[in-house]
Amino acid sequence: MPIEDVLLDLKHKIEKNLPAGVTITDVEFEGPQLVLYTEEPRKFADDGNIIRNLAKELRTRIAMRPDPRVLATPEDSISIIEEVVPKESVISSYYFDPDSGEVIIEAEKPGLVIGKHGATLREITKQIGWIPKVVRTPPIKSRTVKNVREFMRTNLKERKEILKSVGRKIHKECTSKDQWVRVTSLGGCKEVGRSCFLLSTPESRILIDCGVNVGSDENMTPYLYVPEVFPLNQIDAVIVTHAHLDHQGLVPLLFKYGYEGPVYCTPPTRDLMVLLQLDYIDVAAKEGKKIPYESGMVAKTLKHTIPLDYEEVTDIAPDIKLTFHNAGHILGSAISHFHIGDGLHNVVFTGDYKYEKTRLFDPAVNKFPRVETVISEATYGNSNAFQPSLKDAERHLQMVVKNTVERGGICIIPAFAVGRSQEVMIVLEESIRKGLIPEVPVYLDGMIWEATAIHATHPEYLNNDLRKLIFQKGQNPFLSECFKPVDSHDMRQKIIQSPHPCVILATSGMMNGGPVMEYFKAFADDPRNSLVFVGYQADGTIGRRIQKGWKEIPMAGKGGSTEILKLNMEVQVVDGFSGHSDRRQLMDYIKRMQPRPERVFTEHGDEKACVDLASSVYKKLKIETRALTNLETVRLL
Ligand SMILES: [Zn+2]
Ligand SMILES: [Zn+2]
Repeated sequence: MPIEDVLLDLKHKIEKNLPAGVTITDVEFEGPQLVLYTEEPRKFADDGNIIRNLAKELRTRIAMRPDPRVLATPEDSISIIEEVVPKESVISSYYFDPDSGEVIIEAEKPGLVIGKHGATLREITKQIGWIPKVVRTPPIKSRTVKNVREFMRTNLKERKEILKSVGRKIHKECTSKDQWVRVTSLGGCKEVGRSCFLLSTPESRILIDCGVNVGSDENMTPYLYVPEVFPLNQIDAVIVTHAHLDHQGLVPLLFKYGYEGPVYCTPPTRDLMVLLQLDYIDVAAKEGKKIPYESGMVAKTLKHTIPLDYEEVTDIAPDIKLTFHNAGHILGSAISHFHIGDGLHNVVFTGDYKYEKTRLFDPAVNKFPRVETVISEATYGNSNAFQPSLKDAERHLQMVVKNTVERGGICIIPAFAVGRSQEVMIVLEESIRKGLIPEVPVYLDGMIWEATAIHATHPEYLNNDLRKLIFQKGQNPFLSECFKPVDSHDMRQKIIQSPHPCVILATSGMMNGGPVMEYFKAFADDPRNSLVFVGYQADGTIGRRIQKGWKEIPMAGKGGSTEILKLNMEVQVVDGFSGHSDRRQLMDYIKRMQPRPERVFTEHGDEKACVDLASSVYKKLKIETRALTNLETVRLL
């Protein structure tokens, strides 16, 4: 059936299901959702069940678009909204888009604008006709969030066209009589870096992640030239499990080489992804490396990105529904569940996950309506890869910081901008608040503050305890006064020139560049100071050399010369802050999965880790397993 007929058919179905007296003028697809055009938005708002019942009946997501002619003027609308919405919500801006009939309201407390079960939103529509969409005013100013929102506003028209064409592809009729499901490994198997998979059926091709291996020049890119995916316009959708570069660093490259479809990820992943992609090409340019794509491709990616919240079942192809679940790894990280056909097969791509409650996140979700195949990460898949508990890690960190500060020293913590930094920040904030370590400034340098601002903008994605603290008690630990963002070269120089007891969290995490090196050079000599590693240090990095016990560190000096830096400061390695499940947690995650999967494939780990985990799952849990190899295709059904 041609798509126009599908739409006409849907229109008739909807009209049959509408209460008497409520009418629509048209229906159209907009990405994964169906939108209804109406001259009577107020009638829809009157009864919150109309849309809900239609969505249930048609088993799809539905939104309503009012006819521009029935909308109140923006001036009148603002004064009415301010009467309806409690003042405590603190609205900071409005944006009216007559094309979609949406008004975007930015507020400090979005919950108060939404009201119980959306009651306040409906009241707004009832009075002004516009459909309100609420976003949070970032509690910490974030350049990234501001730019992303502005970009979306200025590109609304083009975006609408993109969503329309995506929607029409998703909702076309299935034509094939064959039934099969296959997965092809394009990168990230028996290795870490360049994660990339293709999930294919007779109807659809879905690419899951498209990472870059920043540590390797030869094996940097996934195998994107194979006929399964090339030319790239054969791909129907791209899914990004989380914002780390080894999972999304080359998504803009897909657009550069002809991909034109949607990118699905969670809202925080979208924001972090923009930040990390721009930083990636910036760093590459500074290091004189070849830049794989220009910033224009980052913008194009953003234009095609469709954010989905956790637990939102969404049609992404004629025969595939996608649902994201919390993965506990970094902000917005998602376990991706694919439901294929009408109950034909269910595949779970874990991406990176942590099966333990951390300071920031709840443990990864492992309960699904159905699951047959699991593709699991195996970073710590080795049978001896156990990590100390988070409690032990925290105590260790507190002890080192306390000792350093009490002897008048400075504690340098090299950290990645996204993930461990915020985890360590929460521990330090609590330790200072409870008097477990002396009250000293915690300086944050590099992208850490910007990444923290993105965390503060999406508190819904943090764990239960933090949400309670932020929403019910009004305490946001990220806003604590102990944190001092280093926002200029001058400020950094001041800290270096007048040393005082403090903690410095700075990028890069493996000491292969970034502001951490300036502090290191300045403070390495003094035995009162300490250097504390909280994250993984890869081979070949300065961080790894120091961990191995080097006391004389060769550093690039001026004009290509090499200078030797003498290291007298205390060096400590605090294990246990990883965002990955350790061996025990990997096994438990699969063992306790509901329902029990039929087969488990491993990836994202070195060869030994992937093989070891696969063979243990087979032996101990009696589940068919396989350690995937790059470039192989496995038939799942
Ligand atoms: Zn990751
Ligand atoms: Zn990863």
